[in-house]
Amino acid sequence: MVYILNGEIVSDDDARAIAKRNNAASPVPSNALNVLSVPSKKELPDDNANEPPLIVLDLDGTILETTLPDVRGTKPSYVIRTGGTLAETRLRPGLAEFVDAVLRHGYSLAVWTAAPRAYADDMLGGIERSTVPHFKSSLKCVFAEEQTSIGYDRGRWLCRKELRRLASHTRVPLHRCLIVDDTPVTYASNVRNALPVPAYKGGRSDDVLPQLANFLCSLNIGAGQALDVSGWRYAPHGAGPLTAGADPALEGRLPEGAAERPPLPMWSNRPSAATEDDEVDLT
Ligand SMILES: [Mg+2]
Repeated sequence: MVYILNGEIVSDDDARAIAKRNNAASPVPSNALNVLSVPSKKELPDDNANEPPLIVLDLDGTILETTLPDVRGTKPSYVIRTGGTLAETRLRPGLAEFVDAVLRHGYSLAVWTAAPRAYADDMLGGIERSTVPHFKSSLKCVFAEEQTSIGYDRGRWLCRKELRRLASHTRVPLHRCLIVDDTPVTYASNVRNALPVPAYKGGRSDDVLPQLANFLCSLNIGAGQALDVSGWRYAPHGAGPLTAGADPALEGRLPEGAAERPPLPMWSNRPSAATEDDEVDLT
């Protein structure tokens, strides 16, 4: 496992050495603590229901995987050098077709990663160079670590992507925003807006993005049509039509069963983080 600290990729051992040097209990530096407020309902743009729906894409585990070199044994989509360290990125198969299909169907796109801004920029540049020309210009916004709420709970660091922040920033109503993410904790405040996906592990035969594109393009997203992700094969428990008056019963908590599922750490090759008390979820 590796970490991103201050925009640099460091090994597990280096992260622990840094933590020890700083007398910290966790490899995450204290300046990573980034608990943010979210806009109130009054500040949300609910009066613009005709706005094209916005699909918010996570990066690691959702549309790509980044590892240290020679972990996977297959050709990467691109190689990056961050802070003097080489890393390989493999894009989830079908990404270019996914982007093309959802844009043609009328959605708009955004990216939200809990990783640092510099890493996000490296990834977007790599995606453009290797696979999806003009990817950056097709995005309504890019949110990164500084827009992500990071808290400490029961011995582990957790990242939350409060969709209200993004809705307020883009002026897209919350009920017209969908988030695609492999880590349930990140969308715990907006489970009805969530399109969960299995974590991408660099495989060439992965077909999640073509499936997701087919589902999204089967939805009627015209003005006045309520978005409903309950037909998605990995839909959260309790999913249903999204309306301007979102179901308050599901606000701010995970659906039943999801809370027990531990978040997967960034770039971990383990199938589960359940037994690791000291792992950091930056996905
Ligand atoms: Mg992720």
